[in-house]
Amino acid sequence: MICRHNETMKRPSLPVLLLPITAAAAWTLAGCVSDAGTAGEASNATAVVATAAGEEGAAGSSAPSSSPTTPLAPATGATCDPGATLVTTTEGPYYTEGAPSRDTLSEGNTVGTPLIVAGTVYDADCQPVPGATIDVWQADGAGQYDNSGYNLRGVLTTDAQGRYTLTTVIPGIYPGRTEHLHIKINEPGGPVYTTQLFFPGSTANEGDNIYDEAMVITVEDDGPDQMLATYDFVLP
Ligand code: FE
Repeated sequence: MICRHNETMKRPSLPVLLLPITAAAAWTLAGCVSDAGTAGEASNATAVVATAAGEEGAAGSSAPSSSPTTPLAPATGATCDPGATLVTTTEGPYYTEGAPSRDTLSEGNTVGTPLIVAGTVYDADCQPVPGATIDVWQADGAGQYDNSGYNLRGVLTTDAQGRYTLTTVIPGIYPGRTEHLHIKINEPGGPVYTTQLFFPGSTANEGDNIYDEAMVITVEDDGPDQMLATYDFVLP
């Protein structure tokens, strides 16, 4: 395990991403990276189809962590910019079909700082999309994917107002990749879009060629033990 907290403190953050992040959250983001594995997704920034390249570093995991205790308020008053449609990215090699339907992705003792992301899914006309499917998969806080089970994998469905609330942990970084959540999203009967969500202020963002500021979550609160954030999807 290679910790690079000192490096985090020395490197400047991207100016456009200087959203409020406490020292605790900044410590977590770009905190420690597993020294196992090599970069893989990093070479296919815009392809929607998965590559065979190895986002290696990973299977298994587990060590204790706490659960979020403060639910994020529903995304009331959310705004939609019809020009801000989501950016598709590579799927990467770690997608597993058949993830369970659930809003909480963590199973048992999952490594990572608790994270809640809430928001609304809109169509291209900025109308909320009830029943939209959001299939999420990610690494744990140590940058490890569960490739044998479904920890940190799950499929959410938006409510009658197009809203979703995802409870998980802040993913760790691994070689070539900044913190990110993988997403497959579609409205009922519509095409599936593959994308990723990123985190503001991470010093690892600038070294990740898949990173796109259009897909950065908005941090609403980042207490010492959890992060609450929002992201509204606008489907093409
Ligand atoms: Fe990944």
